[in-house]
Amino acid sequence: MAFSTKTRKILVALLITGWSLALIYYFFQLPAIKHSLKTKQLYYNNRLLMGTFWQVSSPNKQAATIVFSEASRIEQLLSKYIATSEISQLNRLGKLKVSPDTFYIIKKSIEFHDKTFKAFDITVGPLIDLWGFTTQEFQVPTDDKIRDTLKLVGSDKIILHGNDNVVEFKIPGMKIDLGAIAKGYALDCAVKKLKEHGINNCLINAGGQVYALGDKFGKNWKIAIQGRNKLEIIGALELKDKSASTSGNYEQFFLKGGRLYCHIIDPRTGYPANNQITSATVITDKGITADALSTAIFVLDKDSQKQLIKEFPETQIKIY
Ligand code: AMP
Ligand code: MG
Repeated sequence: MAFSTKTRKILVALLITGWSLALIYYFFQLPAIKHSLKTKQLYYNNRLLMGTFWQVSSPNKQAATIVFSEASRIEQLLSKYIATSEISQLNRLGKLKVSPDTFYIIKKSIEFHDKTFKAFDITVGPLIDLWGFTTQEFQVPTDDKIRDTLKLVGSDKIILHGNDNVVEFKIPGMKIDLGAIAKGYALDCAVKKLKEHGINNCLINAGGQVYALGDKFGKNWKIAIQGRNKLEIIGALELKDKSASTSGNYEQFFLKGGRLYCHIIDPRTGYPANNQITSATVITDKGITADALSTAIFVLDKDSQKQLIKEFPETQIKIY
């Protein structure tokens, strides 16, 4: 391509100016870059969101604000404790046109229900109410009450109208509870927003649901798995670009007649999961998958756990 002398001069001038600006920017930034690498400074921030304590650690000062704003947006859509949330409205009305986020998480939840031998089921809402976990007024219901309530349970009783994002219940009185998957989804949304802002290193811990984005100054993020006693550490993980989710029977439970009844319910029987394990941790790429699968693993017996692990070969599972 031939350029006139004048155009050539302009192009050369532009190139020189561009390079000069880049060099000036680099030299001005250099002390800050050197300082952050030398001091290896992390910013720590905490916030109570989605009923749990969120902790954000990142070398980037803006990371926490981005994470908290995404978690708060998801909480306003999905929390059954917020009267104006889409889930509360759907639970009251039995049919609702919802946002793409809410539609997506319900659709994914139904897929997890199908893949987990029905152990993962967001329609456990009426059972969670019956056992008193919603109000913390615990009770052991009669077998008749459980049998009646089970009629309202089953993700196959949710109708999805994909063309206009409408969710509908087949039976009046059904209720969705996204407590086992919403935090994992919120982690994924937060990570997406962080990446959009060019932030590639951040550790988010949302009360047992973790996302380790990138690394900590070149090393994997280190995570401890808590035991029943909050000071007891029962496992340790090193993560990079992975989510880890732990479901346990020590988070919410009550004791009656020498038995422990926990907040994770087997939707096939209507009774709290009781398979002699303390916790299940799932490590995988997506928060939504880790969260849903750790709840399902906690419900399933050993044989079904093994089968499920085969279905998700890219996941790592630890049972304590
Ligand atoms: P997680 O701590 O992620 O295992 O979630 C537990 C929460 O999910 C409970 O507090 C209930 O709100 C809800 N939940 C309980 N049992 C189930 C289940 N089998 N499937 C889906 N959600 C459940
Ligand atoms: Mg879960």
